[in-house]
Formats: sequence, C-alpha cells, structure tokens
Amino acid sequence: MRPSSAAAILFSRREMRFERYSSIEQVPLTVWESLASRSAVGLEAAHLRATEESGINALNPWYLIAYSGSEAVGIAYAFAMDLDLTRLVTEEPPEVMAAVKAWKPGFMHCRILEVGHIASIGATIEVGCEDREAFLQALATELDEIAALEGAELGIIRDLEAESYPTYRVLEERGYRPTMGFPLARLELEWDGFEGYVAALKSKKRYQVLQAQRALQAPEISVEIIEDYAPHADRLAALWQQVADKHGEYEHEVLTRDWFAAMGEHTRGRSHVIAIRLHGKIVCFGLALIGDDCYFGAAEGLDYSVGDGYELYANMLLETIRAAADLGKKTVDLGITTYDFKASLGAELVPTVYLIKAFQKPELSAGWAKLLGEGIEQPDNPHRAFTSTDVSARVQPRQASEVLRSTWDRRDVFGKHDRYARADMTRAAGVYAYGPVFESAQEPLVERDGREVIMLGTNAYLGLATHPRVKAAACAAIDKYGSGCSGSPLLNGTLDLHEKLRERLASFVGKEDALVCSTGYQTNLGVVSTLVGRGDVVLMDERSHASLIDGACLSRATLARYRHGDMDSLAEMLQKHADRPTLVVSDSLFSMEGTVVDLPAMVSLVRQHGARLMLDESHAIGVMGPTGRGVAEHYGLSDEVDVIMGTLSKSLASIGGFVAGERRLMDALRHTARSHMFSASLPPGSVAAALEALALVDLEPERRLRLLANARFLFRGLRELGYQVSHHGSAIVPLYCGNELLMMALFHRLLDDGVFVNPVPWPAVPKGGELLRLSVMATHDEAMLQQAIDVFAKVRTPHWPAA
Ligand code: PMP
Repeated sequence: MRPSSAAAILFSRREMRFERYSSIEQVPLTVWESLASRSAVGLEAAHLRATEESGINALNPWYLIAYSGSEAVGIAYAFAMDLDLTRLVTEEPPEVMAAVKAWKPGFMHCRILEVGHIASIGATIEVGCEDREAFLQALATELDEIAALEGAELGIIRDLEAESYPTYRVLEERGYRPTMGFPLARLELEWDGFEGYVAALKSKKRYQVLQAQRALQAPEISVEIIEDYAPHADRLAALWQQVADKHGEYEHEVLTRDWFAAMGEHTRGRSHVIAIRLHGKIVCFGLALIGDDCYFGAAEGLDYSVGDGYELYANMLLETIRAAADLGKKTVDLGITTYDFKASLGAELVPTVYLIKAFQKPELSAGWAKLLGEGIEQPDNPHRAFTSTDVSARVQPRQASEVLRSTWDRRDVFGKHDRYARADMTRAAGVYAYGPVFESAQEPLVERDGREVIMLGTNAYLGLATHPRVKAAACAAIDKYGSGCSGSPLLNGTLDLHEKLRERLASFVGKEDALVCSTGYQTNLGVVSTLVGRGDVVLMDERSHASLIDGACLSRATLARYRHGDMDSLAEMLQKHADRPTLVVSDSLFSMEGTVVDLPAMVSLVRQHGARLMLDESHAIGVMGPTGRGVAEHYGLSDEVDVIMGTLSKSLASIGGFVAGERRLMDALRHTARSHMFSASLPPGSVAAALEALALVDLEPERRLRLLANARFLFRGLRELGYQVSHHGSAIVPLYCGNELLMMALFHRLLDDGVFVNPVPWPAVPKGGELLRLSVMATHDEAMLQQAIDVFAKVRTPHWPAA
C-alpha cells in the first residue's frame, strides 16, 4: 500500500536531521557551497570564515547542514554571543540608564543565539528541499539544543523578509514570536547604468544628486574602488566606529580591524571597498559584498570631522549604486539606518520580521519580541523618488505591520491581549514589579521569599489588622455567624452586625445614614453611576481614583475633569455647566501623590453654583482630622459635604466600602445602586473587624499621632538624602522618579536590600510622573524607619537623584 501524503511528510520529518559544526574548518565545504546561494552572498563560506577568524564579538559560530536521509537539503548559520541589548530596547536618557545599571548591573545583558549576520547582509537560512516545514521543525530542535549547550537565553532569527514570513510561521509552534526588525533599504536596478538611474529620478532629486556628485570633482577629493582593502583595515575600523558611536543601533556588534582585514583576505573578488579620499586619506567608505545578482552594503564609515561640504555620506551611497550598476547587478542593498535618505534615493524599504524565543523562560518570548520590536523604529516613508509611477509604487514601508498583523487571529477576541504584552515586556526586561506575594500579615516587617522586609507599601495605616482586639472580634463573629453571608443585602444577606456597622459608620462621619458595599471600588462604582445620569454633569479632578471615573463612565452623565487641585479650573467648568444638575466628586487625600483637596474653596464653589459634593475619604479616614474622621473633619466642613465615601480596607483593617449622607438619599441608593443590590454582603468576620477598628480609632488616638510622626520622620530623612519627596500631613510619602524604568529598577534595588515600597506607573499617575509610593504605619518605630532610610542612602548613585 502506498503511504498517504500525511504519512509521507511524517516520514520525511523523522528523517530530517542536522549535522552541526562549531568551526568552518570542520564544515564539508563542497556540501555547504552547493547549498549556499551565490545569487545573494549571505551564506558564502568565505565571508563566514572571515567573521570566524577575526574573533569578532567573541562569537561562537554554528554551521548547520540538514540531511534528509543521506542527501543535504539545507543550511543555516547561527552564532552565540553575549549581548547588551539596552540600546536596542530603550532610549532612556543617559543618567537614567547609568542609575539603572548601577542598581542592576546585568540589566539587558544576555547570551543570545542568533540566526543572522553580524553585518545584516541577508539570509542565513537556505532550504533546498520541498519540505520546508520539516526543515524548520528540525532547525528549531537544533537551535534548542545549541541554546542549551551555549547557555543562551534568547534566540533571534533575523532578517526574514516580511513577504516570505508566512513560510516561517511554523516556527511559532516551536515557541518563536514575531516582531518587526530593521527594514532593508533595497534599490532594484533596472536602468542602463548609473546615468540611467539618475535620469529616472524626479527632477528635484536629480538636481540634488548631481549637486552632491559635483562635490567629488574638487581636486583634493578622489573616489576609488579598493579590491585589496585588508591593508586599510585600521582606518576602516576607525571610520566604522565613528558611525557606530553616532547610531546606537550598531552597538551590539563591533566591526574590528581584524574583521576588515579578514574580510579583505578571504572574500577577495566577492567584496570591495568604495573609498572617498580627501588629500589622499580615506574619509568615507562603503564595504560591499558582491553576489551574483546582488550587491550588499555591509559596512560603512565616515569621518565626521570633515563636515558636510563634500556630502560624503550621500556620495558614498551614490557611488555604491554606481558600482552595483557598473557590475550589472539586479539589486543593491544599502544597509540599515538613515532610511529616510535612502528612500529618497529610491530605495524600497523592505520590511523584515525577527523571530524571538526565550529559551529558558518560554513564557517570556512574546514579551521579548515586543520589547525588541518597540526598540526598532519603523520608517514611515512614502518617498516618491522616480518620475515613473510604477517604480515608486514599490515603496511600501507599512507592509511589515500588515504582515505581522496577519499573524494575529483577528477572529479570536482574546487575540488582542497577546499584542499588548506590556507586563511580559517588563518581565522580559527583568524589572517586573507588580503583584508582590508576602508570607505574613500586614505589619511593619513582613516576610517575603522567606526573608524579612521593611513594609513601606501598605494602606494598613493604623496597624489594626493584627490588633488582638480586632482579630478576636473577627473570630468571635465567625464563631457566631459563620464565614459568609451568601447573598445580596436586600434579599438574603444582612445581619444585625451589618446594621450595627451601617449606623456606626454614619455616626462616625457625622451623617444620618450610610450604605455599605463589599469593596470601596464597588461603592464608588455604584454610587456615582446612580447619583448622576443622562443629562447631568459630573466634575472630577483629573487624578481621581479609577473607581470614581468608572462610576462616572457608567452613569452616562457628562464627565469633565479639571486640572489636579486647580480650583480655578473647577470654577470654569461649574460656570460652563451652570444650567445643568452637577455633582462634584473628589478624593479628599489623593492616594498616589498624597495631595489634599482644597476643601474650603471647593465647598464654596459648589455652594455658589448649587451643585452637590461627594468626597472620597478612603485614605484620610483614621489618619486626618483631629479625631481621624478625615479631611472634612480637618477643615471643620463635614456638614458641607453632601456625601462622604470611605473604605474599610485601609485604616479600618478589613474590607468593604461605605457612603454616608442624608437618610432619604441613602435609602434611594440602597434600592438603586446596582453594585450594592446585586452583590453579596460582607462576611461577618470582616464586619466585626471593621467595627472593632472603628472603636480603636477613638480608643487609641495615639496611633494616629504616631503614624503622622512616622511619616514626617521618613519624609525628612529622604529629603535630606536628596530624593524628591513630598508630604502633606498623611501617611503617604511619594518619591518622584519621573521615569518608569528608573522607578521599577529602584523598586527592585530597594527590595534587594529589604525595603518594600509601591511602584506607581502610568495610568495611576501621569506619564513622566512615575513615582514610588511610600506609606508608613502607626506601628513602625523610628529605628525601623531609619534602617529603611539607610538603605535609601546606600542605593543612591552619583547619577540619581541629582544632589
Ligand atoms: N477610593 C480610593 C481613593 C482608593 O484609593 C481606593 C483603593 N485604592 C478605593 C476607592 C477602592 O477601595 P477598595 O480597595 O476598598 O475597593
């Protein structure tokens, strides 16, 4: 019986195997060369040999030959090397990078296994058989094995032309994730020589080109094609370095003198240097590799001290085009970077795809792909260099994103979540800072990963969550009522305990009645979305808590946000909406920056305009005001605030949220606020804990005083060290970083030395306002805080913060 075609593929797949060689000396060259295309120079042994012999970048080469049975059917070239990816993945200011590297010396250093060329000169995979999929599957296995041998963390398969990417997609099954790479700038030469090319240019460009070329006619200038360029290796390397210093993209490779020398020696006849000399000295060059059909600009160098007068760079590119045309090549590749200019000369910007795999942590492949892709700017360059439209039509710089987009399954609603792998990006970068796990209670010292850490990032401000009376009350309630209430308060879940809490909360903040929900978030969501509706206006500070904003969005009222803390901005908005029912909503103490609302001004504006006022006192309850009732109490304005909201999850050592105000309004909310109606009541233990905590706010007022003294102590200590901190009389001390990477790196550095703080990125704060949020507890003592301040002193670097 004949095998089915599926069986035949399986069979041939099983048969496909690779031989690997770690030195060109071992490679059976006749086999290799029979598979290396001479059309493009990519895999010609001579230039791989030169790269190996030069010892460039201390890379370890791997030459791979695939066999199907005894027949060689494909080749690939890879190398392993240690790489600092910093410049490729981030363009942070130097002082930020210096600080980050001081805290995390290994940041963005990794060992890579790259299927690619050191100088980006085209394909490094040649498949000479029908069964491309089997070849790629076997290659993936091979690369996994080599990665294990090399200890490589990251695999990069580079420079796959986007158009051919679909034929590589099978590698996604093997854990590779695509991202857009540096495009190639390629000019197809379809004219009669260089003159034909120039003639085809649009008149303005033609004029510019001829002007540039005229500069070469100066007597002190000469252009020369150097076949035997090894003797000039020192000069070439020095000029290359000048370009490398200017363009960070090159940083991951260093083309040394030895490389230029070895290339000159081994690739003679298949490469040459176009040199522009000034008074006999080479001041600009392009090193080209010459394939049977293609001409590749592999490296370039420029003496920037010469200045622009001779238009050296433009002329080097033009001379490259001329040389390719003179040799009758079909295409000329002008290399990466300066895309805009190359496109203006008529180059097509050929999009490429890189495939990325995190060998040791495959779950990070998508994050790495995103990270690398973000660092590679995609040119957007619809130049029309030629008069003939059909030539210009080829310039399609956006094609790559189209290709990549096609790799996402748009019919799957989950697909898009993969695309925004932001958390994975920070995981890949090793600075992920969220979702900390502790092994002990919220106390000044907590356990994390089995060691003790100073807790400067909790909202358990008064330290009541571990107070013996609070714990005992919770246990007693569980004993009496069990662990849960199993249903919504209106229908099946309220206990006498809940009623007691409701009354106690109302009287605590001096209001007639209160409504309790299962979290503070739910409270704001339900209350704001119910208090206002279509046709109403809700005005909020731009830094309002997410739960308030979400409530407003759900309400269908008009939401307008005034500038943070800016009462003039609020006044303008009240004026603008004077004829519509308006609710003003504000945090009383802003949770991230610790700023306090200007309540007297706000109350007066609200009254003046006949609007209503709701205040979120979540972070102020237990902390501010003479008896810990919050900011309204602090200003003596509790009666002027229509609705006071608070949470039980911070000072009150439990979970839940409440809102308090007039009885009739609370009753209306009880029957209309959907997050209250359709969600279960709090568990009895939590209710009892909150009740006991409320009692302790009054019984142990020294806690609040200790808390505020602690905050002042921490604030002063950090300010003396030069950190940019602020303090507005609460438990919160923000430390401004102004940069997300810096903020995350500092977070890690502090944690390494046993101090836990809260990293706060956008959108919790505006972009550029990234900060570390420090908060103290009543139960910290000065010795502990001093210990933390000492850590801050230790991690200061000369680079940040500026003294
Ligand atoms: N409002 C503010 C100002 C908050 O900071 C928070 C919690 N971070 C909430 C509401 C929500 O409270 P809960 O955690 O109880 O849901």
